Amino acid sequence: MDINQLLRKNIQDLKPYSSARDEYTGEAMVFLDANENPFNQPYNRYPDPLQRALKEKIAVLKSVDPQQIFLGNGSDEPIDLLIRAFCEPGVDNIVTINPTYGMYQVAADISGVEIRKVSLTPEFQLDVDALLAATDENTKLIFLCSPNNPTGNSLDKKQILKVAERFKGLLIVDEAYIDFAPGKSLLPELEKFSNLVVLQTFSKAWGMAGIRLGMAFASKEITGILNKIKYPYNLNILTQQKALELLGQYEQVKEWVKLLIEERGKVAQELKKLPFVVEVYPSDANFLLVKMHDARGVYDYLVEEGIIVRDRSKVHLCTDSLRITIGVNEENNILLNTLNNLI
Ligand SMILES: *Cc1c(COP(=O)(O)O)cnc(C)c1O
Repeated sequence: MDINQLLRKNIQDLKPYSSARDEYTGEAMVFLDANENPFNQPYNRYPDPLQRALKEKIAVLKSVDPQQIFLGNGSDEPIDLLIRAFCEPGVDNIVTINPTYGMYQVAADISGVEIRKVSLTPEFQLDVDALLAATDENTKLIFLCSPNNPTGNSLDKKQILKVAERFKGLLIVDEAYIDFAPGKSLLPELEKFSNLVVLQTFSKAWGMAGIRLGMAFASKEITGILNKIKYPYNLNILTQQKALELLGQYEQVKEWVKLLIEERGKVAQELKKLPFVVEVYPSDANFLLVKMHDARGVYDYLVEEGIIVRDRSKVHLCTDSLRITIGVNEENNILLNTLNNLI
């Protein structure tokens, strides 16, 4: 696949901004190249635009080459950059599933790019033929999400790979919740599929939503395009330092994930006992999608009691469903006790 064929013309021709830190990256005694203030170290210095130290560590953890990593201000950044790099407003389109994460639509809308949504099956699985039937010669990107938000289930891996095989554009698979899933990441498939992009994030399992750090894994041609069009210093020093610190505490992260998966099982069991709960869908994520009688009424009651969940009742295939994030044991018990008072 020639990735440049897929790119918008203006991005192919773009001469990117060259920062002082791009032109000289070595160690020096005196840095007088970037009009920085010499006082207030270390925050006076611009951060590494390519976040090399951080990528080295992530590469080891994920068994990929550092050049296959793009780091952004949350996953939101690579989602937006992919659309802006590949989709000509008013001409090209992207295809995704319904229901799924809302950010693909928002990013497409902001860019003036058409988004086509293909319903999942009633079991929340992919219909590969329907998905591909929605594409045409102007479809540049397909966005999938596995485990999917808000349904919580993983999409069948064989089906995802069928899409990668048959689709001529880029397939982006958002794995924000992969650490909570029993199935493996698609990262090893990057070797086979040059049109695959895998998104992961520090916002969920890593417990760092506040520092805004998202990862896109892809061929170095694709990460090169994202690097070319991103803000030169898209990740600040504080984010890079904090992430480096937490990468050294991976055992702690694994412990959090284990606890949350245990809690997820317990909360699901208890919810199923409530007479107004119709179904607790199987989840591979750190939340549960729960179908119940009068979900909106339950939502309003919980808000009055100071408990906030996400009302997904108006979402396709999620009629009368709430999305409930798994908290620590005490928080989950408060939720369950409050719901029990409704009986
Ligand atoms: C939470 C979530 C993200 C994370 O986005 P960030 O910008 O990295 O915080 C990405 N994708 C999905 C599907 C999510 O639910």
